[in-house]
Amino acid sequence: MTIKAVLFDFGDTLINTEKFDYDACLRKVHQNLARNGIAVPYNDFKRIYFDVRDRFYEKTAETLEEQDFADRVTETLKPLGIELPKSDKRVQEAVEVFLDAFINSLRIEAYLPQLLEQLSKKYKLAVVSNMSFAKAVFRSLKKFDIAKYFDAIIISGNVGWRKPSSKIFLKALDALNVKPSQAVFVGDSPKADIEGAKTLGIKTVLVTQKEKKTPSTDTFQLYIDKGTQSGNPDKAIMELAQLLEALNCLSKQS
Ligand SMILES: [Mg+2]
Repeated sequence: MTIKAVLFDFGDTLINTEKFDYDACLRKVHQNLARNGIAVPYNDFKRIYFDVRDRFYEKTAETLEEQDFADRVTETLKPLGIELPKSDKRVQEAVEVFLDAFINSLRIEAYLPQLLEQLSKKYKLAVVSNMSFAKAVFRSLKKFDIAKYFDAIIISGNVGWRKPSSKIFLKALDALNVKPSQAVFVGDSPKADIEGAKTLGIKTVLVTQKEKKTPSTDTFQLYIDKGTQSGNPDKAIMELAQLLEALNCLSKQS
C-alpha cells in the first residue's frame, strides 16, 4: 500500500495517562466548589460522580454520541440538592480545575517529538481522539509542543461522535484529503481504534504498551473494550518507538 497519512489516537497512544490520580483530581474539584460556596460531603460527591460518569459511558457506548464534560459536574451536584446550569461560572471553574489536574499528570516518551518530526516529513498526520473535553487535547499537545506536527486534530467533543463511529474517522480523512486505503490508524483501543478504523478499510497498528492497565484509570474518554482482545490489527507494536518499522512493513504489503 502507499501510505499517505498516519492517524493517531491520543490517550495512551501519543500521551501517557498512567500518572493521573483520579481521587486527587476530584478532591481539587471538590475543594474548588467549596471555595465557591458549594459545600458538599466529599465521599458523597465522589460516589455520585463515578455513578454519573459510568451512566454517561454506558449511554455513550450505545449511541457513540459525545457528551459535554460540564454535564458530569451538574449531574453530580443534583442529587446533593444543588441545581446549576452548566454555564454557571462555578461549574465551568470546576471543569477547568479537573482539566488542569489531568494535563499536569500527562507524560510523553522523550523520543516522541523527534518521531513525529520524522513522520511529518513523509506523511500527513492527524490526531483522532475520544475526549468529551476538546480543550484537554489541544492544551496537552501544546504543552508538549507537538501540535505543530499534525495537519488535523479531530476530537469527539467537537465533532459530536466518538470512535468507533465511522463519522469521526471520515472527518479526519476528509480533513487530510486522503482515502481510507491510503491511511494507517495507530491506537491502543481494540474496539474504538482498531475495529473502528477497520470498518472503513483503514489499515491499523495496535499499540499494546506492555501490560494494559485497567480502564478505570482512564479519564474523560474511557471506552470499555468488551469482548475483544486485539481487534485484529494489521500490526501490533509494544510502543511507538517501533512505529516506523511497522509502517515500512505495511507499505510493502499490497
Ligand atoms: Mg487510547
